[in-house]
Amino acid sequence: MTYVKAFDDIRTLFASEKLAKIRNYQPKHFSFNVEGGRCEVCKGDGEVTIEMQFMADVHLECEACKGKRFKKEVLQVTFQGKSINDILNSTIDDAVTFFTKHKETRIAKKLKPLQDVGLGYVTLGQSSSTLSGGEAQRIKLASFLVKGTRQDKSLFIFDEPTTGLHFHDIKKLLKSFNALIENGHSIIVIEHNIDLIKCADYVIDLGKEGGKLGGELIFQGTPEELIKCKNSYTAPYLAEKLK
Ligand SMILES: [Zn+2]
Repeated sequence: MTYVKAFDDIRTLFASEKLAKIRNYQPKHFSFNVEGGRCEVCKGDGEVTIEMQFMADVHLECEACKGKRFKKEVLQVTFQGKSINDILNSTIDDAVTFFTKHKETRIAKKLKPLQDVGLGYVTLGQSSSTLSGGEAQRIKLASFLVKGTRQDKSLFIFDEPTTGLHFHDIKKLLKSFNALIENGHSIIVIEHNIDLIKCADYVIDLGKEGGKLGGELIFQGTPEELIKCKNSYTAPYLAEKLK
């Protein structure tokens, strides 16, 4: 979740706790990426990987930290009853609620865009390598939403960003897309999802079949015009949605 920079504030928050000050902990002590506060046996992973010849690696919970990724002393530092490990195990949704409740609005505000792109169920400590392609794309999208209007205007290309999303999360994703467009950016989406296609300003329909039998331009124009295209597989499904 480093893309949205919320961790810097979370680490600073923990370092400012009374017990942390007594023990002279710096924000870096609450990071699992650098030496200091993390468990050195598993280097902050919470698990150890055992390489098995001819077989898939086996991941075992680290015995030293019991999967908690940090040294015991560091875990004794808590904010409103939660250790840094508790925070990492929280979902984005829970963390936004928690930090809002305890008036840490700066942190909540930085996490909010992840919620907006439909990633509320992901935990803060989840490694980006375990995210799906669609989830990784949405995290990058969230990081752009955090930056707001300050950066140069960009063209975003998304490859099936709705994969694995529920209907209400697709709505959130569309809202995020609109936020980007309102900030002056442009978006190209490669997508099969009709709910998303119907919201496009302009559609390029390629086909007619997939793979080798596709690649021909079937139609280009607005969704409203596309439904009149007799040659398009998309048209009847889209017509349903545009009723
Ligand atoms: Zn460990």
